[in-house]
Amino acid sequence: MKAHPTAYERNAPDPALVERSLQDSRPAVFWLEDAGAVPAYAPLTAPTRADLTVVGGGYLGLWAAVQAKRRNPGQRVVLLEAQSLGWAASGRNGGFCEASITHGEENGRARWPDEYDDLDRLGRENLDGFERDVKDLALDCQWERTGTLAVAVEEHQLEWLADAPHQLTAAEVRAEIDSPLFLAGALSPDDCALVHPARLALELGRVAVDLGVEIHEASRVTAVRTPRRGATTVHTDRSVVTTDRVVLATNVFRPLLRRNRFMTVPVYDYVLMTEPLSAEQMSAIGWRGRQGLTDLANQFHYSRLTADNRILYGGYDAVYPPGGRVEQRHEERPQSHATLASHFLATFPQLADLRFTHRWAGAIDTCTRFTAFYGLARRGRIAYAAGFTGLGVGATRFAADVLLDLLSGESTPRTELQLVRQRPLPSSGRA
Ligand SMILES: Cc1cc2nc3c(=O)[nH]c(=O)nc-3n(C[C@H](O)[C@H](O)[C@H](O)COP(=O)(O)OP(=O)(O)OC[C@H]3O[C@@H](n4cnc5c(N)ncnc54)[C@H](O)[C@@H]3O)c2cc1C
Repeated sequence: MKAHPTAYERNAPDPALVERSLQDSRPAVFWLEDAGAVPAYAPLTAPTRADLTVVGGGYLGLWAAVQAKRRNPGQRVVLLEAQSLGWAASGRNGGFCEASITHGEENGRARWPDEYDDLDRLGRENLDGFERDVKDLALDCQWERTGTLAVAVEEHQLEWLADAPHQLTAAEVRAEIDSPLFLAGALSPDDCALVHPARLALELGRVAVDLGVEIHEASRVTAVRTPRRGATTVHTDRSVVTTDRVVLATNVFRPLLRRNRFMTVPVYDYVLMTEPLSAEQMSAIGWRGRQGLTDLANQFHYSRLTADNRILYGGYDAVYPPGGRVEQRHEERPQSHATLASHFLATFPQLADLRFTHRWAGAIDTCTRFTAFYGLARRGRIAYAAGFTGLGVGATRFAADVLLDLLSGESTPRTELQLVRQRPLPSSGRA
Protein backbone atom coordinates (compact mmCIF):
# COMPACT_ATOMS: atom_id res chain seq x y z
CA MET A 1 0.00 0.00 0.00
CA LYS A 2 1.22 3.53 -0.86
CA ALA A 3 2.06 6.14 1.84
CA HIS A 4 -1.22 7.92 1.02
CA PRO A 5 -3.67 5.26 -0.02
CA THR A 6 -6.52 6.47 -2.20
CA ALA A 7 -10.19 6.23 -1.20
CA TYR A 8 -10.45 3.15 -3.40
CA GLU A 9 -7.51 1.53 -1.59
CA ARG A 10 -8.73 2.49 1.89
CA ASN A 11 -12.08 0.92 1.09
CA ALA A 12 -10.75 -2.03 -0.89
CA PRO A 13 -12.98 -5.10 -0.81
CA ASP A 14 -11.85 -8.58 0.12
CA PRO A 15 -9.65 -9.84 -2.79
CA ALA A 16 -11.84 -12.98 -2.91
CA LEU A 17 -14.81 -10.76 -3.86
CA VAL A 18 -12.79 -9.16 -6.64
CA GLU A 19 -11.78 -12.54 -7.97
CA ARG A 20 -15.35 -13.80 -7.84
CA SER A 21 -16.69 -10.72 -9.63
CA LEU A 22 -14.36 -11.37 -12.57
CA GLN A 23 -14.43 -15.13 -12.77
CA ASP A 24 -17.13 -15.32 -15.45
CA SER A 25 -15.90 -12.34 -17.51
CA ARG A 26 -14.73 -12.87 -21.06
CA PRO A 27 -12.08 -10.92 -22.98
CA ALA A 28 -14.53 -9.37 -25.44
CA VAL A 29 -15.87 -5.91 -26.28
CA PHE A 30 -19.48 -5.77 -25.06
CA TRP A 31 -20.46 -3.06 -27.55
CA LEU A 32 -19.24 -4.96 -30.59
CA GLU A 33 -21.10 -8.07 -29.45
CA ASP A 34 -24.24 -6.08 -28.68
CA ALA A 35 -24.31 -4.08 -31.91
CA GLY A 36 -26.63 -6.48 -33.74
CA ALA A 37 -26.36 -7.59 -37.34
CA VAL A 38 -23.20 -6.20 -38.88
CA PRO A 39 -23.13 -5.78 -42.66
CA ALA A 40 -19.90 -6.78 -44.38
CA TYR A 41 -18.50 -4.53 -47.07
CA ALA A 42 -16.46 -6.22 -49.81
CA PRO A 43 -12.74 -5.45 -50.08
CA LEU A 44 -11.51 -3.29 -52.92
CA THR A 45 -10.40 -5.72 -55.61
CA ALA A 46 -10.49 -3.63 -58.80
CA PRO A 47 -9.05 -0.20 -59.60
CA THR A 48 -11.55 2.61 -59.21
CA ARG A 49 -11.87 6.40 -59.34
CA ALA A 50 -13.08 8.82 -56.68
CA ASP A 51 -13.38 12.51 -56.05
CA LEU A 52 -12.65 11.88 -52.36
CA THR A 53 -11.01 8.84 -50.78
CA VAL A 54 -11.32 8.41 -47.02
CA VAL A 55 -8.82 6.14 -45.25
CA GLY A 56 -10.15 4.70 -41.97
CA GLY A 57 -13.60 3.53 -40.97
CA GLY A 58 -13.84 4.87 -37.43
CA TYR A 59 -15.99 7.87 -36.51
CA LEU A 60 -13.70 10.40 -38.18
CA GLY A 61 -13.60 8.63 -41.53
CA LEU A 62 -17.31 7.85 -41.42
CA TRP A 63 -18.32 11.41 -40.56
CA ALA A 64 -15.99 12.75 -43.25
CA ALA A 65 -17.62 10.49 -45.85
CA VAL A 66 -21.16 11.33 -44.69
CA GLN A 67 -20.55 15.09 -44.52
CA ALA A 68 -18.80 15.09 -47.89
CA LYS A 69 -21.85 13.53 -49.52
CA ARG A 70 -24.21 15.87 -47.71
CA ARG A 71 -22.20 18.85 -48.95
CA ASN A 72 -21.97 17.62 -52.51
CA PRO A 73 -24.15 14.58 -53.27
CA GLY A 74 -22.80 14.33 -56.82
CA GLN A 75 -19.23 13.53 -55.83
CA ARG A 76 -17.87 10.01 -55.72
CA VAL A 77 -16.63 9.05 -52.25
CA VAL A 78 -14.76 5.82 -51.46
CA LEU A 79 -13.96 4.76 -47.88
CA LEU A 80 -11.21 2.19 -47.25
CA GLU A 81 -11.00 0.42 -43.89
CA ALA A 82 -8.17 -1.96 -42.96
CA GLN A 83 -10.35 -4.28 -40.86
CA SER A 84 -14.05 -3.59 -40.29
CA LEU A 85 -16.02 -0.42 -39.55
CA GLY A 86 -15.73 0.69 -35.94
CA TRP A 87 -13.68 -2.28 -34.66
CA ALA A 88 -11.06 0.00 -33.04
CA ALA A 89 -11.55 2.88 -30.58
CA SER A 90 -14.84 3.89 -32.19
CA GLY A 91 -16.51 0.59 -31.31
CA ARG A 92 -15.07 0.06 -27.84
CA ASN A 93 -15.14 3.41 -26.04
CA GLY A 94 -17.16 4.65 -23.09
CA GLY A 95 -19.72 6.34 -25.32
CA PHE A 96 -19.44 9.76 -23.62
CA CYS A 97 -20.21 12.21 -26.42
CA GLU A 98 -18.89 15.44 -24.93
CA ALA A 99 -19.38 19.00 -26.14
CA SER A 100 -15.74 19.87 -25.56
CA ILE A 101 -13.47 19.87 -28.62
CA THR A 102 -10.47 20.90 -26.50
CA HIS A 103 -10.33 18.01 -24.04
CA GLY A 104 -12.03 20.07 -21.39
CA GLU A 105 -12.10 23.71 -20.41
CA GLU A 106 -8.82 23.78 -18.50
CA ASN A 107 -6.81 22.41 -21.45
CA GLY A 108 -8.65 24.66 -23.90
CA ARG A 109 -8.19 27.85 -21.89
CA ALA A 110 -4.53 27.08 -21.19
CA ARG A 111 -3.66 26.54 -24.86
CA TRP A 112 -6.01 28.91 -26.70
CA PRO A 113 -6.98 31.60 -24.16
CA ASP A 114 -7.93 34.11 -26.86
CA GLU A 115 -10.26 31.86 -28.80
CA TYR A 116 -11.53 29.64 -26.02
CA ASP A 117 -15.00 31.21 -26.00
CA ASP A 118 -15.36 30.43 -29.72
CA LEU A 119 -14.10 26.89 -29.19
CA ASP A 120 -16.57 26.38 -26.37
CA ARG A 121 -19.43 27.67 -28.55
CA LEU A 122 -18.35 25.56 -31.55
CA GLY A 123 -18.19 22.48 -29.32
CA ARG A 124 -21.72 23.07 -27.99
CA GLU A 125 -23.01 23.70 -31.52
CA ASN A 126 -21.35 20.45 -32.57
CA LEU A 127 -23.10 18.49 -29.82
CA ASP A 128 -26.46 20.06 -30.69
CA GLY A 129 -25.81 19.38 -34.38
CA PHE A 130 -24.94 15.80 -33.50
CA GLU A 131 -28.26 15.47 -31.71
CA ARG A 132 -30.07 16.87 -34.76
CA ASP A 133 -28.24 14.38 -36.99
CA VAL A 134 -29.23 11.51 -34.69
CA LYS A 135 -32.83 12.54 -35.34
CA ASP A 136 -32.62 13.56 -39.01
CA LEU A 137 -30.50 10.59 -40.09
CA ALA A 138 -32.39 8.23 -37.73
CA LEU A 139 -29.11 7.06 -36.16
CA ASP A 140 -30.16 4.15 -33.96
CA CYS A 141 -27.34 4.53 -31.42
CA GLN A 142 -29.15 4.72 -28.05
CA TRP A 143 -28.50 8.48 -27.76
CA GLU A 144 -29.32 9.80 -24.26
CA ARG A 145 -28.58 13.46 -23.47
CA THR A 146 -27.97 12.71 -19.80
CA GLY A 147 -25.15 15.11 -18.95
CA THR A 148 -22.44 14.10 -16.51
CA LEU A 149 -21.90 13.92 -12.77
CA ALA A 150 -18.32 14.53 -11.56
CA VAL A 151 -17.65 13.39 -8.00
CA ALA A 152 -14.97 14.13 -5.43
CA VAL A 153 -13.73 11.04 -3.62
CA GLU A 154 -10.88 12.70 -1.66
CA GLU A 155 -10.96 15.75 0.64
CA HIS A 156 -8.39 17.61 -1.48
CA GLN A 157 -10.65 17.34 -4.54
CA LEU A 158 -13.42 19.37 -2.89
CA GLU A 159 -11.82 22.69 -3.76
CA TRP A 160 -11.76 21.71 -7.46
CA LEU A 161 -15.54 21.87 -7.41
CA ALA A 162 -15.59 25.44 -6.05
CA ASP A 163 -16.27 27.08 -9.45
CA ALA A 164 -18.68 24.46 -10.74
CA PRO A 165 -22.13 25.91 -11.56
CA HIS A 166 -24.23 22.96 -10.32
CA GLN A 167 -22.56 21.85 -7.10
CA LEU A 168 -23.96 19.02 -5.01
CA THR A 169 -23.30 18.16 -1.38
CA ALA A 170 -22.48 14.60 -0.36
CA ALA A 171 -26.14 13.94 0.44
CA GLU A 172 -27.28 15.43 -2.87
CA VAL A 173 -24.73 13.39 -4.85
CA ARG A 174 -25.73 10.22 -3.04
CA ALA A 175 -29.37 10.95 -3.83
CA GLU A 176 -28.34 10.86 -7.50
CA ILE A 177 -25.94 7.91 -7.38
CA ASP A 178 -25.34 6.27 -4.03
CA SER A 179 -21.77 5.52 -3.02
CA PRO A 180 -20.19 5.93 0.42
CA LEU A 181 -17.08 7.23 -1.38
CA PHE A 182 -18.76 10.31 -2.86
CA LEU A 183 -17.97 13.45 -0.83
CA ALA A 184 -19.49 16.05 -3.19
CA GLY A 185 -20.10 16.55 -6.88
CA ALA A 186 -21.02 18.73 -9.80
CA LEU A 187 -23.65 18.16 -12.45
CA SER A 188 -23.13 19.22 -16.06
CA PRO A 189 -26.64 18.60 -17.33
CA ASP A 190 -26.18 19.68 -20.92
CA ASP A 191 -22.57 19.03 -21.96
CA CYS A 192 -22.67 15.35 -22.77
CA ALA A 193 -24.80 12.63 -24.33
CA LEU A 194 -24.27 8.90 -24.03
CA VAL A 195 -24.27 6.64 -27.08
CA HIS A 196 -23.84 2.98 -27.91
CA PRO A 197 -20.40 3.38 -29.51
CA ALA A 198 -20.44 0.43 -31.90
CA ARG A 199 -24.00 1.12 -33.03
CA LEU A 200 -23.01 4.71 -33.78
CA ALA A 201 -20.20 3.51 -36.07
CA LEU A 202 -22.44 0.98 -37.83
CA GLU A 203 -25.22 3.50 -38.24
CA LEU A 204 -22.86 6.05 -39.74
CA GLY A 205 -21.81 3.30 -42.16
CA ARG A 206 -25.44 2.68 -43.07
CA VAL A 207 -26.08 6.38 -43.66
CA ALA A 208 -22.89 6.70 -45.70
CA VAL A 209 -23.99 3.86 -47.98
CA ASP A 210 -27.50 5.34 -48.27
CA LEU A 211 -25.88 8.57 -49.42
CA GLY A 212 -23.86 6.68 -52.03
CA VAL A 213 -20.47 6.23 -50.33
CA GLU A 214 -18.63 3.09 -51.50
CA ILE A 215 -17.23 1.31 -48.45
CA HIS A 216 -14.56 -1.37 -48.63
CA GLU A 217 -13.49 -3.28 -45.52
CA ALA A 218 -10.41 -5.51 -45.26
CA SER A 219 -8.72 -2.92 -47.47
CA ARG A 220 -5.61 -1.66 -45.72
CA VAL A 221 -4.05 1.34 -47.42
CA THR A 222 -0.33 0.84 -47.88
CA ALA A 223 0.59 4.12 -49.61
CA VAL A 224 -0.77 7.40 -50.91
CA ARG A 225 1.11 8.75 -53.93
CA THR A 226 0.84 12.35 -55.05
CA PRO A 227 3.12 12.86 -58.06
CA ARG A 228 3.79 16.46 -59.12
CA ARG A 229 2.31 15.63 -62.48
CA GLY A 230 -0.54 13.20 -62.56
CA ALA A 231 -3.27 11.96 -60.33
CA THR A 232 -3.18 11.05 -56.67
CA THR A 233 -3.41 7.31 -56.05
CA VAL A 234 -4.36 5.44 -52.88
CA HIS A 235 -2.97 1.90 -52.82
CA THR A 236 -4.26 -1.13 -50.94
CA ASP A 237 -2.69 -4.60 -50.90
CA ARG A 238 -4.86 -5.57 -53.85
CA SER A 239 -5.87 -2.50 -55.82
CA VAL A 240 -5.80 1.25 -56.21
CA VAL A 241 -8.08 4.29 -56.13
CA THR A 242 -7.28 7.23 -58.37
CA THR A 243 -8.61 10.25 -56.55
CA ASP A 244 -8.66 14.03 -56.39
CA ARG A 245 -8.54 14.37 -52.60
CA VAL A 246 -7.79 12.20 -49.58
CA VAL A 247 -8.89 12.28 -45.93
CA LEU A 248 -6.60 10.36 -43.60
CA ALA A 249 -8.58 9.18 -40.57
CA THR A 250 -6.26 6.47 -39.27
CA ASN A 251 -6.11 7.78 -35.70
CA VAL A 252 -3.44 6.08 -33.57
CA PHE A 253 -2.43 3.52 -36.19
CA ARG A 254 0.79 3.75 -38.19
CA PRO A 255 0.46 7.07 -40.06
CA LEU A 256 0.65 7.11 -43.85
CA LEU A 257 2.45 10.46 -43.78
CA ARG A 258 6.03 10.61 -42.52
CA ARG A 259 5.38 13.98 -40.88
CA ASN A 260 2.85 12.34 -38.52
CA ARG A 261 5.06 9.45 -37.45
CA PHE A 262 5.77 10.81 -34.01
CA MET A 263 2.57 12.74 -33.39
CA THR A 264 0.44 10.17 -31.56
CA VAL A 265 1.14 7.33 -29.16
CA PRO A 266 -1.22 4.58 -28.02
CA VAL A 267 -2.01 4.50 -24.31
CA TYR A 268 -4.11 1.53 -23.28
CA ASP A 269 -7.29 2.12 -21.32
CA TYR A 270 -9.08 -0.78 -19.60
CA VAL A 271 -12.83 -1.37 -19.31
CA LEU A 272 -15.25 -3.71 -17.52
CA MET A 273 -18.93 -4.35 -18.15
CA THR A 274 -21.25 -5.88 -15.54
CA GLU A 275 -24.23 -8.12 -16.05
CA PRO A 276 -27.59 -6.24 -16.14
CA LEU A 277 -28.65 -4.97 -12.72
CA SER A 278 -31.88 -6.26 -11.22
CA ALA A 279 -34.58 -3.79 -10.13
CA GLU A 280 -33.38 -4.14 -6.50
CA GLN A 281 -29.75 -3.53 -7.48
CA MET A 282 -30.82 -0.45 -9.43
CA SER A 283 -32.77 0.93 -6.50
CA ALA A 284 -29.73 0.31 -4.26
CA ILE A 285 -27.69 2.80 -6.30
CA GLY A 286 -30.35 5.18 -7.66
CA TRP A 287 -28.83 6.61 -10.85
CA ARG A 288 -32.27 7.63 -12.07
CA GLY A 289 -30.76 10.51 -14.07
CA ARG A 290 -28.52 7.96 -15.88
CA GLN A 291 -25.69 10.54 -16.05
CA GLY A 292 -22.23 9.71 -17.26
CA LEU A 293 -20.20 9.42 -14.03
CA THR A 294 -16.56 10.44 -13.55
CA ASP A 295 -14.43 11.07 -10.52
CA LEU A 296 -12.02 13.94 -10.09
CA ALA A 297 -8.93 11.82 -9.47
CA ASN A 298 -5.91 12.45 -11.64
CA GLN A 299 -6.14 8.85 -12.82
CA PHE A 300 -9.89 9.10 -13.23
CA HIS A 301 -12.60 6.46 -13.57
CA TYR A 302 -15.59 6.76 -15.90
CA SER A 303 -18.80 4.87 -15.61
CA ARG A 304 -22.28 4.71 -17.14
CA LEU A 305 -25.39 2.64 -17.57
CA THR A 306 -26.28 0.76 -20.76
CA ALA A 307 -29.76 0.48 -22.24
CA ASP A 308 -30.24 -2.81 -20.38
CA ASN A 309 -28.89 -1.37 -17.10
CA ARG A 310 -25.44 -2.85 -17.05
CA ILE A 311 -22.66 -0.68 -15.65
CA LEU A 312 -19.61 0.10 -17.75
CA TYR A 313 -16.61 0.93 -15.57
CA GLY A 314 -13.31 2.05 -17.08
CA GLY A 315 -10.25 4.22 -16.74
CA TYR A 316 -7.65 4.61 -13.95
CA ASP A 317 -4.70 2.68 -15.43
CA ALA A 318 -3.22 4.26 -18.56
CA VAL A 319 -0.59 1.92 -19.93
CA TYR A 320 1.93 2.80 -22.58
CA PRO A 321 2.81 -0.52 -24.23
CA PRO A 322 6.46 -1.46 -24.77
CA GLY A 323 7.31 -0.58 -28.37
CA GLY A 324 4.43 1.87 -28.61
CA ARG A 325 2.34 -0.16 -31.06
CA VAL A 326 -1.33 -1.04 -31.25
CA GLU A 327 -1.42 -4.81 -30.77
CA GLN A 328 -4.17 -7.09 -29.55
CA ARG A 329 -1.96 -8.68 -26.90
CA HIS A 330 -1.98 -5.42 -24.91
CA GLU A 331 -5.72 -5.80 -24.34
CA GLU A 332 -5.33 -8.56 -21.72
CA ARG A 333 -3.84 -7.13 -18.55
CA PRO A 334 -5.21 -9.00 -15.54
CA GLN A 335 -3.85 -6.56 -12.97
CA SER A 336 -5.57 -3.59 -14.61
CA HIS A 337 -8.93 -5.37 -14.78
CA ALA A 338 -8.54 -6.58 -11.17
CA THR A 339 -7.77 -3.03 -10.03
CA LEU A 340 -10.87 -1.76 -11.81
CA ALA A 341 -13.03 -4.49 -10.26
CA SER A 342 -11.66 -3.64 -6.82
CA HIS A 343 -12.35 0.09 -7.29
CA PHE A 344 -15.86 -0.68 -8.55
CA LEU A 345 -16.68 -2.78 -5.49
CA ALA A 346 -15.19 -0.12 -3.19
CA THR A 347 -17.49 2.43 -4.87
CA PHE A 348 -20.62 0.27 -4.79
CA PRO A 349 -20.37 -2.14 -1.83
CA GLN A 350 -24.14 -2.67 -2.19
CA LEU A 351 -23.40 -4.45 -5.50
CA ALA A 352 -20.99 -7.01 -4.02
CA ASP A 353 -22.87 -9.87 -5.72
CA LEU A 354 -22.73 -8.34 -9.18
CA ARG A 355 -20.55 -10.10 -11.77
CA PHE A 356 -18.61 -8.72 -14.72
CA THR A 357 -19.39 -10.32 -18.06
CA HIS A 358 -16.91 -8.53 -20.38
CA ARG A 359 -13.43 -7.09 -20.03
CA TRP A 360 -11.52 -5.30 -22.76
CA ALA A 361 -9.12 -2.48 -23.55
CA GLY A 362 -8.38 -0.04 -26.33
CA ALA A 363 -5.65 2.30 -27.46
CA ILE A 364 -6.21 5.94 -26.56
CA ASP A 365 -5.09 8.22 -29.40
CA THR A 366 -2.78 10.40 -27.33
CA CYS A 367 -1.00 13.52 -28.54
CA THR A 368 0.95 16.12 -26.63
CA ARG A 369 -1.78 18.75 -26.59
CA PHE A 370 -4.51 16.24 -25.54
CA THR A 371 -6.83 17.18 -28.37
CA ALA A 372 -6.78 16.56 -32.10
CA PHE A 373 -4.38 18.29 -34.48
CA TYR A 374 -5.21 18.98 -38.12
CA GLY A 375 -3.33 19.58 -41.32
CA LEU A 376 -3.04 19.60 -45.09
CA ALA A 377 -0.25 17.82 -46.95
CA ARG A 378 1.00 17.29 -50.51
CA ARG A 379 -0.11 20.60 -52.02
CA GLY A 380 -3.50 20.51 -50.37
CA ARG A 381 -4.56 17.13 -51.70
CA ILE A 382 -4.49 15.30 -48.36
CA ALA A 383 -6.14 16.38 -45.11
CA TYR A 384 -5.61 14.61 -41.79
CA ALA A 385 -6.61 14.79 -38.13
CA ALA A 386 -5.58 12.57 -35.23
CA GLY A 387 -4.81 12.64 -31.51
CA PHE A 388 -8.25 12.99 -29.91
CA THR A 389 -6.70 11.66 -26.68
CA GLY A 390 -9.68 9.72 -25.46
CA LEU A 391 -12.26 12.37 -26.24
CA GLY A 392 -13.17 11.76 -29.85
CA VAL A 393 -16.81 10.61 -29.85
CA GLY A 394 -18.14 14.16 -30.31
CA ALA A 395 -14.96 15.88 -31.54
CA THR A 396 -14.55 13.63 -34.61
CA ARG A 397 -17.78 15.06 -36.05
CA PHE A 398 -16.35 18.57 -35.73
CA ALA A 399 -13.00 17.39 -37.11
CA ALA A 400 -14.60 15.87 -40.20
CA ASP A 401 -15.99 19.27 -41.15
CA VAL A 402 -12.61 20.89 -40.51
CA LEU A 403 -10.97 18.42 -42.92
CA LEU A 404 -13.55 19.02 -45.64
CA ASP A 405 -13.16 22.78 -45.17
CA LEU A 406 -9.38 22.44 -45.49
CA LEU A 407 -9.65 20.33 -48.65
CA SER A 408 -12.04 22.84 -50.20
CA GLY A 409 -9.26 25.43 -50.03
CA GLU A 410 -11.66 28.00 -48.65
CA SER A 411 -11.13 29.95 -45.47
CA THR A 412 -13.92 29.26 -42.98
CA PRO A 413 -14.33 30.16 -39.29
CA ARG A 414 -13.12 26.62 -38.54
CA THR A 415 -9.98 26.74 -40.69
CA GLU A 416 -8.94 30.08 -39.16
CA LEU A 417 -8.83 28.72 -35.61
CA GLN A 418 -5.43 28.49 -33.93
CA LEU A 419 -6.65 25.07 -32.80
CA VAL A 420 -6.63 24.05 -36.48
CA ARG A 421 -3.59 26.01 -37.68
CA GLN A 422 -1.14 25.11 -34.91
CA ARG A 423 0.68 21.80 -34.90
CA PRO A 424 1.54 20.38 -31.47
CA LEU A 425 4.96 19.10 -30.46
CA PRO A 426 5.59 15.50 -31.42
CA SER A 427 5.42 12.70 -28.89
CA SER A 428 8.70 10.89 -28.45
CA GLY A 429 7.50 7.39 -27.59
CA ARG A 430 6.44 5.68 -30.82
CA ALA A 431 8.75 2.98 -32.18
C1 LIG B 1 -11.29 2.31 -24.14
C2 LIG B 1 -11.59 3.65 -24.75
C3 LIG B 1 -12.56 4.47 -24.18
C4 LIG B 1 -12.84 5.71 -24.75
N1 LIG B 1 -13.87 6.44 -24.24
C5 LIG B 1 -14.25 7.58 -24.86
C6 LIG B 1 -15.40 8.30 -24.44
O1 LIG B 1 -16.16 7.85 -23.55
N2 LIG B 1 -15.68 9.48 -25.05
C7 LIG B 1 -14.91 9.96 -26.06
O2 LIG B 1 -15.20 11.05 -26.57
N3 LIG B 1 -13.86 9.27 -26.54
C8 LIG B 1 -13.52 8.09 -25.98
N4 LIG B 1 -12.48 7.37 -26.48
C9 LIG B 1 -11.77 7.88 -27.67
C10 LIG B 1 -12.58 7.69 -28.94
O3 LIG B 1 -13.06 6.35 -29.02
C11 LIG B 1 -11.69 8.00 -30.16
O4 LIG B 1 -11.14 9.29 -30.00
C12 LIG B 1 -12.46 7.96 -31.47
O5 LIG B 1 -13.15 6.75 -31.61
C13 LIG B 1 -11.46 8.15 -32.62
O6 LIG B 1 -12.12 7.86 -33.84
P1 LIG B 1 -11.22 7.69 -35.14
O7 LIG B 1 -12.11 7.45 -36.26
O8 LIG B 1 -10.25 8.80 -35.23
O9 LIG B 1 -10.33 6.39 -34.83
P2 LIG B 1 -10.59 4.81 -34.83
O10 LIG B 1 -11.89 4.43 -34.28
O11 LIG B 1 -9.36 4.22 -34.20
O12 LIG B 1 -10.60 4.45 -36.37
C14 LIG B 1 -9.44 4.48 -37.17
C15 LIG B 1 -9.65 3.42 -38.24
O13 LIG B 1 -8.65 3.57 -39.22
C16 LIG B 1 -8.34 2.28 -39.69
N5 LIG B 1 -7.02 2.32 -40.32
C17 LIG B 1 -5.84 2.62 -39.73
N6 LIG B 1 -4.85 2.57 -40.63
C18 LIG B 1 -5.42 2.22 -41.82
C19 LIG B 1 -4.91 2.01 -43.13
N7 LIG B 1 -3.60 2.12 -43.40
N8 LIG B 1 -5.78 1.68 -44.11
C20 LIG B 1 -7.11 1.57 -43.86
N9 LIG B 1 -7.64 1.76 -42.62
C21 LIG B 1 -6.80 2.09 -41.63
C22 LIG B 1 -8.38 1.41 -38.46
O14 LIG B 1 -8.52 0.03 -38.79
C23 LIG B 1 -9.56 1.99 -37.70
O15 LIG B 1 -10.75 1.31 -37.98
C24 LIG B 1 -12.13 6.14 -25.91
C25 LIG B 1 -11.16 5.33 -26.48
C26 LIG B 1 -10.90 4.09 -25.93
C27 LIG B 1 -9.86 3.21 -26.58
